[in-house]
Amino acid sequence: MAIKKQLTDYSPVPPVESNRRLIGPPIAQHFESGSEAPWMPEEKSWRGSMAGSCARQIAYSIKGVEETNLKDASDYWRFWLGSATHAELFPAMKEWANNSEGLTITEEMEVTLGENGYGHIDLVLDVDDKKVVIELKTINGTGYKKAIGGGGPRYSALLQGSLYANGIDADLLVIAYVAMENCTDSWVEQRGFDTLTKFTSEWHYTPDQFNPRAEAEVNRLEWITEQLNDGREAKEIPRMFSEFDPDIPWGAEVIDPRTGAWVLEQDDTLIAKSRTWMCGYCSYKDRCIQDG
Ligand code: SF4
Repeated sequence: MAIKKQLTDYSPVPPVESNRRLIGPPIAQHFESGSEAPWMPEEKSWRGSMAGSCARQIAYSIKGVEETNLKDASDYWRFWLGSATHAELFPAMKEWANNSEGLTITEEMEVTLGENGYGHIDLVLDVDDKKVVIELKTINGTGYKKAIGGGGPRYSALLQGSLYANGIDADLLVIAYVAMENCTDSWVEQRGFDTLTKFTSEWHYTPDQFNPRAEAEVNRLEWITEQLNDGREAKEIPRMFSEFDPDIPWGAEVIDPRTGAWVLEQDDTLIAKSRTWMCGYCSYKDRCIQDG
């Protein structure tokens, strides 16, 4: 005879009201103080991590304009999760290098980009006289599935990695994703992936693939710097994106930062229009709206 479970004791209840929380507020307090911007030599103006961002946003950042849309504890918590994971991954890489003849690994290698750019490369492998740049990225489960399901790594990750690989004249660029949530066995099996793919995948790019992207982006970032050095205000820099952005055509400009609406026009004729999510995450959104 089947045994009936007694379920009457369990009835789902909503979480306690915000003002009765015990654990959330101290955690939030710990994280909402933020994290310092990564160090950069004084004579440099832009960082590799700015690759792919809106030109106006980069200009505000270079000019040191005060951010109007500050991040909250949840953002810093997310950043911390990524950093904490990175910190655990480095020893794994070291162990690999120690056990492999002819392989050396450098963490956080400094790199000069163009005339005025600077960055830190997550990992550089030296193997058989070849240099390999590794960009390690942690990502949520949804983004990870999208990437391995055919979308590939985020364009900003590819662009940043391209800049670094180009900056040290590397032979190979590897964008490695480590997911913060595993895919299920059935999800990877159905798509013909192995079990490792449940939480990690990587994409490899050769110089003929990363150099053109990197050169175009360095030129764009240097152009923004020159414009500002020549006395142009940050608010005069057009709200445009990078040359090879797969979602926004080159030349398109944001016309409404409130919604991220952009248009591409030629000879007063509308060629394309859509919206970008980037304005929604921009630390200068209110400033940009105000500046028009
Ligand atoms: S709000 Fe949008 S258009 Fe304005 S600076 Fe930010 S990303 Fe650029």
